[in-house]
Formats: sequence, C-alpha cells, structure tokens
Amino acid sequence: MIENVFVAPVAGPEIESGYIRIAGDRIVALGAGPAPDVPGAVRIDGEGCLATPGLVNTHHHLYQWASQGLAQDATLFEWLVALYDVWAAMDAEVVKGAATAGLGWLALSGCTTSSDHHYIFPKGRGDLFAAGIEAAREVGVRFHPARGSMDRGRSHGGLPPDAVVEELDDILAATEEAVDAYHDPSFSSMSRVVVAPCSPFSASAELMTESAALARAKGVRLHTHIAETLDEDEHCVAQFGLRPVDYMEKLGWLGPDVWFAHAVHLSDSDIGKLAASGTGTAHCPSSNGRLGAGIARVSEMLRQGANVGLGVDGSASSELTPLAGEMRQTLLFQRARYGPGALTARQALELATLGGARNLGRENELGSLEPGKLADIALWRVGGPFASAIADPVCALVFGPPPPLARVLVGGRSVVEDGELKTVSHDAAGRAGAEAARRLARLAREKGFTAPKEVGQG
Ligand SMILES: [Zn+2]
Repeated sequence: MIENVFVAPVAGPEIESGYIRIAGDRIVALGAGPAPDVPGAVRIDGEGCLATPGLVNTHHHLYQWASQGLAQDATLFEWLVALYDVWAAMDAEVVKGAATAGLGWLALSGCTTSSDHHYIFPKGRGDLFAAGIEAAREVGVRFHPARGSMDRGRSHGGLPPDAVVEELDDILAATEEAVDAYHDPSFSSMSRVVVAPCSPFSASAELMTESAALARAKGVRLHTHIAETLDEDEHCVAQFGLRPVDYMEKLGWLGPDVWFAHAVHLSDSDIGKLAASGTGTAHCPSSNGRLGAGIARVSEMLRQGANVGLGVDGSASSELTPLAGEMRQTLLFQRARYGPGALTARQALELATLGGARNLGRENELGSLEPGKLADIALWRVGGPFASAIADPVCALVFGPPPPLARVLVGGRSVVEDGELKTVSHDAAGRAGAEAARRLARLAREKGFTAPKEVGQG
C-alpha cells in the first residue's frame, strides 16, 4: 500500500493525495484520501512523492555501454564506420557487463521495462542474446530483447564491413530460436522477443520481408531504425529509388505490430502513413542531438494520431542518458522547434509511459496506473527542499532534472529504494559496465582495432 502520495496515473484524473493498493504483481485499487485499512499490508509512505507508471524504454543497444565516449564529433555514418569493427570484438561477457550496467542505470531513472536491439553477433563469442536476458533477470526489469541482424555488408552496397554481417539463413534460424527460447506472451511477462533487422542500409530487402513473415507467424513484434539522418535518405533514394518510409511500406513493414527507432526525417505523407497504419516510433532526442541527426516531428505526429514512445538509444551515441531526462529533452526540443504549445509536461510523461507500452504492444498491462494493470510504479521525491518550490509535481518531474527516486517497483517488487539498486549491488552493476568497456577495448586491440575518440571533424 503506497499512501499519502500524489498520483499521476496517465490514464484518468490525477489524485493530489491518495493511495495505490497492490496485491501480487497487480494494482488492485487507487483512490483519494487516506489508504483503506488492509490487515497485514506493507505500507510505503509516499509523503512528498509523485507516483507515476514506471517508464518504458523503447530503443536501446545495451552492449554500447562498453563503447561510450568514442567518435565524439561524428555523424551517424562516420560514427558507425568507426565503431563496427570495435563492436565485432565483443563477447558474451562484454554484453553481460554492459547490459547489467545499462539496465541498472535505466532502473535508476524510473524505468521498469526496456527493449534492447542487439544486431551484431560475432561467431564463437558465446551466447550474446542470452547474456542480455540474464542481466535483465538479475536487475529485475521487464525486458523486450530484439534479435537484430545485418546481412548487407559493404560488398553488397551496405554500410557495415562484410566481417560483421551474418548470412540470411543463419539469421532467420537464430531469430526463430530466440523467439522459441525466450518469448513469453503472458500478461505478467518479464521477457518478450522482438524481430529486428538493423536498418535499410545494413539489412537486405529479403531479410526485411523474411523477418516480417517470421515475426507475424510467431506473433511477435517488429522493430528497426528508420529515417534517422539525411545520409540514410540519400542512401535509400540512390539504392532503392524510395525514401525510407515508402521503402518500408513496400516491404510490408508498416502496421500496428511495428515500431521504428528515430523517424526524424519524415514528410507529411510519411506521418500520415505511420498514423493510418498504427506504426509506432521510438523518439530518442539525446541521441539525435548527440549525432546532430535533427529534431523529429513529434508534436505533429501526435496531432495526426501516430503513437510515439521514448528511447535513450545505445549509450555509444547517448552517453549516460537517464530515461526520465528524455521527457525534458523531448519537451524542450519540440518547443524549440514549434513553440511553447508544442508539448505539455503531461504529454511528455505519457510518451515515456503509455506511449512506450503501446510501442511494445503492452498497453493493456503497462503504461498507466489502473486497477488490473501490473504494479510497475516509480515514486519520485519531488518534495525535497529544492524541488518542492514547484507546486506542480508533474512539472517538477518533466521541466527539471530527474528527481531522486524513493522507489521503483516492478510487478510490486522493489528494484530501487532510496536511489539505490536493490536487486543487484549498486557498485557491482556500475563496475560491471566499466569492466565491460575495458574488456571490449582489449579484445578490439587484439584484433588490430582501436576505439577512436576523435572521428568526424567534417
Ligand atoms: Zn539505435
């Protein structure tokens, strides 16, 4: 029982002082006023706190925790070309350490569900997909791992070196195996697998269409990168005679079971197609800013009825980004582009919660605080000596830097308490990430590649 708390349920009216009652892994009631007397209930005093749904991260590459701070001034294509060979040196141990730190870091900014798009699988380096899943189990957050893939190396007109791509048949077999082994479609699921060829410039048309067929046969979702930069636009027009969204439409990749990362460079017609088909997008403003990709037309997409969730994106292009901070980043970017009416604090909170849940196909279970939904809840301390100068706690959460967390609950279980991870040791999670970075740098050096700090001076 969480009591004396300001509740922003995202769906339904806000409650200035009320309670949330949890039984098992679900919310069973919430209301205004004092909490009802439930014998034996564990009581959490929410005085000075704002309760929101746990945040949902819909785009990430957890392995990149091990390659932060590199190619610092590069465009997307320069950055990728600088890093592909370094990433190709990773092994399961690197992924495990990076994912532990990355997921711990997400939980520490109120995230209770995260996807992960992993698309490089060097041979003979252990079970990289399983390593991420193991980390998520240990940290205790819900996980939607996407089995990514690339089959279009440089010799076939793609961007990645041939050495880091896989064969089409191997990809499809491994992806099907991942779904069979780790996809749990149940209401309370902690693990749902996604099918996710990497991007139009690294995946063949055949891989895209075969992946869509596989995902639909298995009843799982589809994810890829699209329209991130103008370089990609030019690549698609030159190679396929179509801009990215039109190309994806041709490949059967629009629909309510698909969400795209980025979608920065969209035409009016593209936005109309996403809205009409129910295709979602993961907006990653810090990464888009870091790589100078541009500002997505989020407020126009919302006006047209397209679904938008948030993502921190991989840490190599979005160093140490807290998911909660992406609400503020989104709000400021949209207002900088369209004016102060572009996005409200409450809309930004909805993107980070219900918008994300819709991207993952989990709007019935997650994304808002309602009886019957899973008890994934973030309790933000907005009543401290500084933040309490703002009377509206939702404004304090979104307009300011992320406030400290009193609790993060996943299915009613405490993952964060008083700003500390409770499932894995706080220090151990951080050290695992740093050790993964040192290990990856060493493995890359052994293969003759160094991680470049300065790339992309124009
Ligand atoms: Zn990405």
